[in-house]
Amino acid sequence: MSGIYQVINPANESIVTDVDLADLAAVDAAIEKADRAFKTWRTIAPGERAKLLRAFAQEVTNHRQELAMLEVTNSGHTISNALWEADNVANVLNYYSAAPERLFGRQIPVPNGIDITFKEPLGVVGVIVPWNFPMPIAGWGFAPALAAGNTVVLKPAEYTPLTAIKLGEIALKAGIPEGVFTVIPGKGSIVGNRFVTHPKVRKIVFTGSTEVGKSIMAGCAEQVKRVTLELGGKSANVIFADSDLEKAAAAAPGAVFDNAGQDCCARSRILVEKKAFDKFMELFESAVKKFRVEDPSLATAEMGPLISKKQFESVQNYLNEPVAFKGSAPSGKGFWMAPTVLQPKSTDSKSWREEIFGPVVSVMPFEDEADAIAKANDTDFGLSGSIWTRDSAKAIRVSRAIESGNLSVNSNSSVRYWTPFGGYKQSGLGRELGPDALDSFTEVKNVFINTD
Ligand code: NAP
Ligand code: MG
Repeated sequence: MSGIYQVINPANESIVTDVDLADLAAVDAAIEKADRAFKTWRTIAPGERAKLLRAFAQEVTNHRQELAMLEVTNSGHTISNALWEADNVANVLNYYSAAPERLFGRQIPVPNGIDITFKEPLGVVGVIVPWNFPMPIAGWGFAPALAAGNTVVLKPAEYTPLTAIKLGEIALKAGIPEGVFTVIPGKGSIVGNRFVTHPKVRKIVFTGSTEVGKSIMAGCAEQVKRVTLELGGKSANVIFADSDLEKAAAAAPGAVFDNAGQDCCARSRILVEKKAFDKFMELFESAVKKFRVEDPSLATAEMGPLISKKQFESVQNYLNEPVAFKGSAPSGKGFWMAPTVLQPKSTDSKSWREEIFGPVVSVMPFEDEADAIAKANDTDFGLSGSIWTRDSAKAIRVSRAIESGNLSVNSNSSVRYWTPFGGYKQSGLGRELGPDALDSFTEVKNVFINTD
């Protein structure tokens, strides 16, 4: 043990509980145990592994209310989001429970024999989770990793360990063998870093800041360790004058202020075609004023507090541009902040360029299609984005031109567990979810059998 972490409810600053933080010896012991468990987990018959994953999913569903309430208390997520997040873990487990029985290789025609490929599990996979979406991001890593026959050690963010710890208990209750899925709360510099340096951890799945992601990628290079990175974003919401402006404006607050803007897919840059700018701003202002920021345990809440005092302070550094208008937020205890709409004067502005990770959005006009594409791409990031227009040919042209991993047309939704998710440029490396996720949790082995 290397100390304790006091979990704080961000909505009222009350102390929720204490969590023991693992020290190096505890991490090493857990990795060794996961490595021993791998020897048997990989040999479990595919149909049996599928059943165990479905039992895990069912047990998550049985605990959905409890998991959701833990997230409301630990992270300030709205109850409606938190229920979706618990259900997402169950859905992702169910989706990948179909994979063990379909982990096909190929038979490739060659002279003088037979050639076949196998998709072999890697071994122990280390999943490092951030605090913004503790449940879904954990599940996107551990579900396909386990389905492919790997064992998993998972480090939740220091701020938000409670649902991960619960998921670890639920897995055991569902019959997942000891050592197959181990949750290890602790510090990034100790537990996370040990995943990177321990030779028995064969792959890292990391979601978090671009800065830490780069250091993890550099650390993994030492052992040519496999790595998937989901990093920051500065996604554009591109609104053309020929779109359904009412709909685009009504949806725009949720696209950036959901989860208090602490979302790597947040549409934190709104680009509006010049001739529709004033009309959009009028509609957007009334939508922002209606956005409900309140006690996250209320079913009507659309946004809760920020995760921590530190995050709150970090977000305040971005408010040095003209404010167009603001929404409202509760006063008193808790890390509350009103949704804030900025109108930066230039694309060099820090609030236009950097990931803020708070309820702040910047709006800027554009001239035409080419200017919209140029402005949308003028960033080191490339995770998500939206395009609003009634012209479907234009929607396709702009979708193809924006350098980003996940785009939506006349919608702001980025995440569907059936489809691949990940970033261009400095938003990440590799893809999670969708039909191909097991490729990043397996090695392809080629075997030639001489028949001469
Ligand atoms: P972070 O430092 O990148 O943390 C993400 C995860 O990595 C946490 O579990 C963290 O552990 C762990 N970690 C930190 N240093 C590590 C290291 N040297 N080796 C291995 N693991 C390490 O993110 P943050 O400091 O919480 O947030 C800072 C900013 O990052 C945010 O304001 C936001 O801009 C961005 N962010 C992006 C995402 C995203 O989804 N793309 C998510 C979170 C944050 P600890 O919790 O112990 O530090
Ligand atoms: Mg950090």
